[in-house]
Amino acid sequence: MSSIEVTVWSENYHERHQPEIAAIYPDGIHGAIADGITADPRFAVRTATQDQPDHGLGNGVLESTDVLLWWGHADQQAVDDRWVQAVRDRVFDGMGLIALHSSLNSKPFRSLIGTSCRSAGYRHGGRELIWTASEDHPITDGIPNPVVVPDSEMYCEPFDIAQLDEVVFISSFEGGEVFRSGVTFRRGRGKIFYFAPGHEEYPIYFDPIIRRVINNAIAWAAPSPPPEHPQIGPDVRDKPLGWFVYG
Ligand code: ZN
Repeated sequence: MSSIEVTVWSENYHERHQPEIAAIYPDGIHGAIADGITADPRFAVRTATQDQPDHGLGNGVLESTDVLLWWGHADQQAVDDRWVQAVRDRVFDGMGLIALHSSLNSKPFRSLIGTSCRSAGYRHGGRELIWTASEDHPITDGIPNPVVVPDSEMYCEPFDIAQLDEVVFISSFEGGEVFRSGVTFRRGRGKIFYFAPGHEEYPIYFDPIIRRVINNAIAWAAPSPPPEHPQIGPDVRDKPLGWFVYG
């Protein structure tokens, strides 16, 4: 079985400009996220950062990516629109996209969702509880309910997103706020998962439970081959003849 090709993309800004963030993420946020993915034999992982030529997505990297993880925050407006378009095209063509934390405001995510994607507010610090909202969803496999994040950044409703498929997680915060912190979308042939926890001031991407959520999401978002015999409409082969006649 061939591996799922995963690219972890990060803007790599806080780590290079703020020593206190570099102390938490010495190999970068992308490095910590990639470290949690490498441990899973289903995945082949590489990293790409905004400060690299072509944001690290050139030379066939984006073309050969099955699932792209995106972390941006401080320098999102500087992402070249050419690559925003390229990511969007790849998602429509079937690439999975996992947008993390403040990437709710990233150009690729917003261009795919079609709304502002803003959270109504934010606050640094304090406990987050991540509640499972879709019990049988593959992204929740093996995930305790709730997940306790001792220190996190609060985002809150209303969350300006549209045409979502499933709310997988809802978080609650110490101030009583709630937020749809794990949400899925489909755009074209591509699956998208937004996952909110992951503020740079806290070591959230080292948490084994958070890593499991991310790995579950990668497996879920990976493109699946088209079925050999495409099915049009509902499968009625098990129905008795005449099932459609209303009595
Ligand atoms: Zn943050």
